[in-house]
Amino acid sequence: QDAIAFLKQQIRTVPDWPEPGVQFRDITPLLANPRAFRVLIDQFVHRYFDSRPDVVAGLDARGFIIGSVLAYELNIGFVPIRKKGKLPFTTVQETYELEYGSATVEMHTDAVKPGDRVLLIDDLIATGGTMLAGKRLLERLGATVIEGAVIVDLPELGGSAKIREQGLPVFALVDFQ
Ligand code: IMP
Repeated sequence: QDAIAFLKQQIRTVPDWPEPGVQFRDITPLLANPRAFRVLIDQFVHRYFDSRPDVVAGLDARGFIIGSVLAYELNIGFVPIRKKGKLPFTTVQETYELEYGSATVEMHTDAVKPGDRVLLIDDLIATGGTMLAGKRLLERLGATVIEGAVIVDLPELGGSAKIREQGLPVFALVDFQ
């Protein structure tokens, strides 16, 4: 569609960042363009307006930007899934493997209630590790994750396929090969 092609044009590719060989997909030009930002949010609002989740959970940090605006538009709450060490109250944590080393994400134990239907959102899926860690956190708190939504999927890295294998549907607006 035109809207999707328009959005894709706003994403900048930065070669060799943060390390040689990586093509970083940078959404900051999309966010800075008021028309593109509105088109972006409208895509998600239309998708989730009828099935309306109870909560949007955003992954640190770009998931906060789009997730909070979407939650506001759907008139539902927003909760952050943060990198370790940022949340002041009692938390649950999940650690996952990166190419070199590991990462830990956490949530407040009262961020969602058992039975809540949660939409999990981030800017991009690469290997899928971040989104799967978010899914595990939400499920440990008794929530049901209805879908993982992103602006960009990198299907060649296999992350979205792995997430779907774990039973979580994935919705991505744009693919980059
Ligand atoms: P994954 O856990 O390997 O799927 O990596 C996804 C996480 O890393 C997301 O939180 C993204 O924001 C970030 N990330 C990885 N690669 C990129 C990229 O090319 N552009 C923007 N974010 C990226």
